[in-house]
Amino acid sequence: MHIVIIGNGIAGVTAARHLRKQSQHEITMISGESEFHYSRPALMYSYMGHMRSEDLKPYEDWFWEKNRINLKRAWVETIRFNEKQLVFADGSTMNYDKLVLAVGSTTSYYDWPGQDLDGVHGMVTLQDIEAMERHSEERLKRAVIVGGGLIGIEMAECFHTRQIPVSFLVREESYWNRVLPPDESTMVTKHIQRKHGIDLRLETELSEIWGDGDGKVKMAVAKGGEKFPCEFVGISAGVKPNIEWLSFSELELGRGIKVNDHLETNLKDVYAIGDCAELIEPQPGRRPIEAIWYTGRMMGETVAYNILGKPTPYRPGIFFNSAKFFDLEYQVYGSTPNELPENQSWFYWQHPTEDKAIRLYWSKASKAVLGFHLMGIRYRHEVCEAWIANETNINEVVEHLGLANFDPEFYEEHEEAIVSAFNAQEGTSIKLKSKRGLSGVQRFLKKLTSKSTARV
Ligand SMILES: Cc1cc2nc3c(=O)[nH]c(=O)nc-3n(C[C@H](O)[C@H](O)[C@H](O)COP(=O)(O)OP(=O)(O)OC[C@H]3O[C@@H](n4cnc5c(N)ncnc54)[C@H](O)[C@@H]3O)c2cc1C
Repeated sequence: MHIVIIGNGIAGVTAARHLRKQSQHEITMISGESEFHYSRPALMYSYMGHMRSEDLKPYEDWFWEKNRINLKRAWVETIRFNEKQLVFADGSTMNYDKLVLAVGSTTSYYDWPGQDLDGVHGMVTLQDIEAMERHSEERLKRAVIVGGGLIGIEMAECFHTRQIPVSFLVREESYWNRVLPPDESTMVTKHIQRKHGIDLRLETELSEIWGDGDGKVKMAVAKGGEKFPCEFVGISAGVKPNIEWLSFSELELGRGIKVNDHLETNLKDVYAIGDCAELIEPQPGRRPIEAIWYTGRMMGETVAYNILGKPTPYRPGIFFNSAKFFDLEYQVYGSTPNELPENQSWFYWQHPTEDKAIRLYWSKASKAVLGFHLMGIRYRHEVCEAWIANETNINEVVEHLGLANFDPEFYEEHEEAIVSAFNAQEGTSIKLKSKRGLSGVQRFLKKLTSKSTARV
């Protein structure tokens, strides 16, 4: 059997590794972007000079041959699903028995006049980073970044580290407030503006980009007419599943490639995983498309079982994510909406002077904890996950909050202050029983019987 995987990102690579671990089938992994798998979230560190580009590769180059995973660097132009055949950009073909589509995301553009000029790029691919590098070395005096969110802020940090001034145009009235609750959004907004001196322009939308007559970027113009002279426009107004090239096929598409619980598409022997996959029936509390690293990895493992005839539903468990806004760390576990749902309560604590905050969510009816939203404070994944999975009472969580603390040992602990603020809000008289420390965590976790942390 020949199993072909299009895409060598985290989803494709994980599928290939697990297929090889469990079978002797022929495996081919194809990518137009790069010969070898690299860590996409680490792209910014190569631009900033924290890592060399070869350090982005988690596996040595010999790994693939040793594990008999054929690599092919090429763009697939079309797929003849009826004939189980791929057609490459150079006209050559390849046949498959089983096909995994792990084709990732692309930058969303919104038909702005001038978006094809030299100097307009997203920050998703190696080629994007190379373009940022080239422009930075050539003539870049000022960059404009369009669209907030996690990629935009990474782009801003990239240019900032090279002392290239940035104007950051964000449509919303507060940074990433579609996702962050209001206090946290305000904290990030101030962090970007005051602490890092970025020219953040809220409620400002790109209208068009002007060229210099030579095909190069000269100016970004906002709706309302304000002009931003610049030589580079970074686009970070979201990513979307990379499916346009598949749109004239029999494959069922929505916003992404539609898949069932077993990551099967509507076509026999064709699967989709990672950023490009859209679950027809996502698990409760999860979204149909989740363009994040660890879900790609989990789908990669799950699809391997399904291809090899061991039916395994995709069960991502409890949501988590983490990122950084410059040096402000952000973590979420469970369900952490930006607005309070009617049937839930929340508690928010913010440090009086530093950029640190924690928000807890729980069910009004059962008092079970539902989510943790953390800024500038790190909490342990396994503890938060176990509390949520076990529907632990919010008062018990608060009582043992120190167990979750995962900050380095020399960092100040804030749980005493958090507990007394919680008592003030809720009229309780909880005393903090557990402090930071691994031995306590291990004892505590042993006691909890995990009900719903089902993992692949
Ligand atoms: C700058 C940046 C920072 C990020 N940071 C984080 C983070 O901190 N945490 C987190 O959870 N997530 C982060 N993400 C998201 C995360 O990187 C993605 O969710 C993940 O990489 C998606 O993996 P994937 O395997 O689905 O697809 P991708 O990694 O996008 O891989 C898709 C592959 O498909 C190939 N391909 C596509 N079409 C074709 C074709 N027609 N022919 C041949 N090959 C093709 C491409 O060459 C590519 O190799 C970040 C993303 C970016 C861009």
